[in-house]
Amino acid sequence: MLVVENIQKHFDGFKAVNGACLSVETGEIVAVIGPNGAGKTTLFNLITGQLKPDGGKITFSDEDITFLPPHRICKKGIARSFQIANIFHRLTVFRNVQVSVLSQKTRNLNVFFPSDRFFVEETRAIMESVGLADKDREIAGALSHGDRRLLEIAVALGNEPRLLILDEPTAGMSPEETATTIQLIKRLADTRGLTILFCEHDMDVVFDVSHRIMVMEQGRTLIQGAPEEIKKNPEVQRAYLGNE
Ligand code: ADP
Ligand code: MG
Repeated sequence: MLVVENIQKHFDGFKAVNGACLSVETGEIVAVIGPNGAGKTTLFNLITGQLKPDGGKITFSDEDITFLPPHRICKKGIARSFQIANIFHRLTVFRNVQVSVLSQKTRNLNVFFPSDRFFVEETRAIMESVGLADKDREIAGALSHGDRRLLEIAVALGNEPRLLILDEPTAGMSPEETATTIQLIKRLADTRGLTILFCEHDMDVVFDVSHRIMVMEQGRTLIQGAPEEIKKNPEVQRAYLGNE
């Protein structure tokens, strides 16, 4: 589904992403791991078009998307959440999700037209799937950190993606919230048939949900493989898995 080849991004000569490679098959849950500053967020920004690469190639469903702008990449079926929550704080949970559904379904939306009755069912279905159905009237800015992160995933789902990219989905979450998020990721893959690419620092989460793992170091791909393969790799063990 997604192939990233030898991708490069330099900031004033600093090689934040320096030849990373990644492949994601349809239906897979793939994790990217690596220390802070390895280039994970930058890699995701390159895939979704927020950043333009200085070299390399990105292919999605056999189409070259390397230099497409973010909205075109989104229309092709890649949606993402951000490491820092990206929602309308003064709107309700329902409205946040509905706005994203509307933006996908309607092209010439008149912003002054009362749109609150549009796509109510679609919006509810998405809130249901992330477990926020009973909080639809709450103001987004008043949600707990964990619920805000779930809302962000709901907003990404409004774009009807085939590939969902999550940047540290459990960052800052309590153990309970983390467990809920793990279940959610598994459920989205199982019931919605979504392909999921995420980066994550919590190794328990990574080994619990991933079909394959890519390890990044200093902008490069150290290895990509099945969890057992990653666990056995001596370099990975030394760098990330301590004495395990
Ligand atoms: P990760 O998500 O793996 O922690 P990042 O992709 O955020 O890593 O960052 C990789 C490296 O690139 C870091 O050293 C970071 O400081 C640097 N970097 C990221 N974005 C920028 C930017 N816009 N300008 C300059 N340096 C950046
Ligand atoms: Mg990051």
